[in-house]
Amino acid sequence: MPLWTRPRGTSDILPEEIELWLKLEEKIRAVCHAFGYRELRTPMFEHTELFQRGIGEATDIVEKEMYTFQDRGQRSITLRPEGTAPIVRAYLENKLGAGSLPVKVFYYGPMFRYERPQAGRYRQFTQFGLEALGSSDPLLDVETIALPIELYRACGLEGFEVELNSIGCPSCRQEYRKELVAYAGPLRQELCPSCQSRLDRNPMRLLDCKEEGCRRLLKDAPAIEDYLCQECSSHFSQVRSYLGALDISYHLNPHLVRGFDYYTRTVFEVTFPKLGSQDAIGAGGRYDGLVEECGGQPTPAVGFAVGVERLLLALKSQGKLKLEKKGPAVFIVNFGGRTKVKAAQLAQSLRREGFWAEMDYLDRSIRAQMKSANRLRAGYVLVLGEEELAQKKVLLRDMETGREEFYKLDEPEQLMKALGRV
Ligand code: AMP
Repeated sequence: MPLWTRPRGTSDILPEEIELWLKLEEKIRAVCHAFGYRELRTPMFEHTELFQRGIGEATDIVEKEMYTFQDRGQRSITLRPEGTAPIVRAYLENKLGAGSLPVKVFYYGPMFRYERPQAGRYRQFTQFGLEALGSSDPLLDVETIALPIELYRACGLEGFEVELNSIGCPSCRQEYRKELVAYAGPLRQELCPSCQSRLDRNPMRLLDCKEEGCRRLLKDAPAIEDYLCQECSSHFSQVRSYLGALDISYHLNPHLVRGFDYYTRTVFEVTFPKLGSQDAIGAGGRYDGLVEECGGQPTPAVGFAVGVERLLLALKSQGKLKLEKKGPAVFIVNFGGRTKVKAAQLAQSLRREGFWAEMDYLDRSIRAQMKSANRLRAGYVLVLGEEELAQKKVLLRDMETGREEFYKLDEPEQLMKALGRV
């Protein structure tokens, strides 16, 4: 394997591609601003225990997918596989709950999971997520769904679907879990090996097994909705009525459970079916027990995370978020020697004014420099030869119209005015 091979499941975002990312990031920031969410940046690694306790020991992520290592001080460290537990840690450590509630923050950055890479599933991927801590208001659950939907809309995405479920609280879930095990227990031998182990360790996860056989067997499993306690049931119906009031359409999916143990009550997922097997472009839910689990006071909270690569894949599949390729404002062609020095000075003063000014760094012929200017799609070319230098002027060529004009070197304002037309 050549030395320049990147690790599996990672990607290089090349300069042409990064423009799309920046455009999307701009939209993310705008929609977060409108909803009153402010950015919180946490470290890319945390103490392993935070994720073990927060996400849950018997989850796929903690059991199989974390990048965990001992640092040189013999501490167990994990590259963050998700953003919620770190935000809760930061909320507690920085006493954010002492201010006005709810605390509404968003994060944006890379996550790491040792998964089987395929289209739309990577080992390093980017999530944009939001968290609202300190209120159990069902309206906040709905806002957490509304925000990413506004983002999808702002990007021009069409055809996404919202799935919704309530998985209750630890007390109603206990009852449900018993019923589910009673239903699935006799089917044990027919379930896939993962589900056989889920049956003992984390039976709720049986519900979202992707294996066709398991899906068929569990199709008629008891539905959690029938086991919700009074409070959870009323919370869920309020969530649904707010969704209606805000005109957010959704499907109820009684089999929707999430891969994290911290979720309580509302869970949701947004899919973009055209993406195929990895079609979830965002997911989230309420996690009323996590802050306490991490050592804080009981604090209700709700959040959502968007997979940025998948969102970009979805947008590309619809030809949305296109970029017009723009080149430098100006390419300065020089003839070497003194003219190169003058070209560098000219470039410096143009750059100081914010113009993208390019020049040649390979001592190429004039023809080759013109070719470079063309290839880069420069709006203008400035030609600076010995003769021009002697006469203290420079030739400006408009690359679109072919029009040429001389400008005085000691009157750069006129030149900049002309370039400003780009
Ligand atoms: P989760 O944190 O598992 O709830 O995932 C939230 C969103 O992140 C998903 O809906 C995906 O869009 C995205 N996502 C999760 N895992 C991956 C991955 N391995 N590669 C790319 N995107 C991912």
